[in-house]
Amino acid sequence: MLCDFHTHTTLSDGSLTPMELIHRAVQRGYRAVAITDHMGVGGLEEYLALVTKECRLAESYWDIIAMPGVEFTHLPPGAIGEAARAAKEMGARLVIVHGETLVEPVPAGTNLAALSSPHVDILAHPGMLTTEEARLAAANGILLEVSARKGHCLANGRVAKLGRQAGARLVVNSDTHHPEDMLTLEFRRSVALGAGLGDSEVMEELPAGIAALLERVGISKKRRQ
Ligand SMILES: [Zn+2]
Ligand SMILES: [Zn+2]
Repeated sequence: MLCDFHTHTTLSDGSLTPMELIHRAVQRGYRAVAITDHMGVGGLEEYLALVTKECRLAESYWDIIAMPGVEFTHLPPGAIGEAARAAKEMGARLVIVHGETLVEPVPAGTNLAALSSPHVDILAHPGMLTTEEARLAAANGILLEVSARKGHCLANGRVAKLGRQAGARLVVNSDTHHPEDMLTLEFRRSVALGAGLGDSEVMEELPAGIAALLERVGISKKRRQ
């Protein structure tokens, strides 16, 4: 099942409108796609209202699960928990946090704050993830992202290794900004194998993680199939 829980549109720094992104996902055979533009707290409500409307329209015509989401980016760590709670209240189906990637000066403490919030679903590109953080992800059912994106992917091996050791679930996301970034099953497999996962993990644990995530964000079993 091809799903992608981390994409950007013209509403932040991507080049596709939400509807074009969803339509391209339909054409590629995605079962589910989440739109997760970079956000702080200003304009969150308007953004989520707009994306929710687009997702509902797409779902009413096309066979895809289209989820309004958000990627909280460079927020002060102390503000992440409350922002995530507010986003869920405003209709975000999925909340991800822009983790401490090696290639940007993300505020220290971001990973820990994200993994401590019950309203965060995915910690994106966690960079120099610690064992403590990986254990927290496992305990709280938050997925750790293995990133297909240039730069953010530099720590994929570490994230996969510590995540597996701690029993945390992993998810491969594209972090799409442009059409050529979108996933295929083959590319997702290569990214996972490149991060050090084995064939059986790619075949069994990644799909199990996707199923767990869809369940976590409230997609019914019937729609997940
Ligand atoms: Zn990010
Ligand atoms: Zn992103």
